[in-house]
Amino acid sequence: MSDVSQPITIQVCVQRAQELEHSESARLDVELLLASVLERDRAYLYTWPEKVLTEAQVSAFEALLTARKDGRPVAHLLGEREFWGLPLAVDDSTLIPRPDTETLVEAVLALDLPDKAQVLDLGTGTGAIALALASEQPQWSVTAVDFSAAAVALAERNRQNLALTNVGIMVSNWFSQLQCRQFHLIVSNPPYIDENDPHLARGDVRFEPLSALVAENKGLADLQHIVETAREHLLPGGRLLLEHGYTQGEAVRGLLLEAGYQDIETLTDFGSNDRVTCGRYPGKPFS
Ligand code: GLN
Repeated sequence: MSDVSQPITIQVCVQRAQELEHSESARLDVELLLASVLERDRAYLYTWPEKVLTEAQVSAFEALLTARKDGRPVAHLLGEREFWGLPLAVDDSTLIPRPDTETLVEAVLALDLPDKAQVLDLGTGTGAIALALASEQPQWSVTAVDFSAAAVALAERNRQNLALTNVGIMVSNWFSQLQCRQFHLIVSNPPYIDENDPHLARGDVRFEPLSALVAENKGLADLQHIVETAREHLLPGGRLLLEHGYTQGEAVRGLLLEAGYQDIETLTDFGSNDRVTCGRYPGKPFS
């Protein structure tokens, strides 16, 4: 507990990171929480370490720190997470965007796609991937779907906040509402964790919907469904890019091969783990 007889400075608050024993990013967590209480950015904390907090700021900080000690994700406490430099509203209806998913965005932007590409993001959650792509490529027309109406509402809120007009967001269980629609590019970060993975009992994932994390068949069921069904929704030469678990690269390449895709390749994330696998559905290239 804080000693009320002493003025509580920024420096004193930052040191309380040591109380977050279970977080792998304790210092960053505390800085983000404190910066939000002070309504400043993190650089401010380093510039003004001696600044004294008001009583209201101290109690707001204490409340956030306590919730974080209980395991609540920082993104949920702040209601926001940055992805690809875009501030995204986050709630407990979806996955919290991960930096590793930026690998997929980067890979897409390196592809040779038509200027006015038609793009589909399956299981969009906060809208992270779709909105990042739409912001980078204003000429593309991006469709984003999620089976959860709450996720669709959240992604739509994010779209409006970012004033992106080249994204349409709608409820669909994978391809269920997309009959006859075809795309140059289909991307997805589907659930891919095995239900018995001990990782599910630790950290932020405990506060995220299982439906966004877990899939049957060792985490491969949704990946397989997408690989197979995407064939009907890709224009000739269209690309499919999928995020997956770091042990699933070989299995996903196998699924793509079996389904008739070509130019199959797995890319690694910032931690050098297999993270994204892509393939091209046969046909003439677009350009
Ligand atoms: N990469 C996330 C995790 O390991 C899982 C994301 C997903 O299932 N799509 O926590």
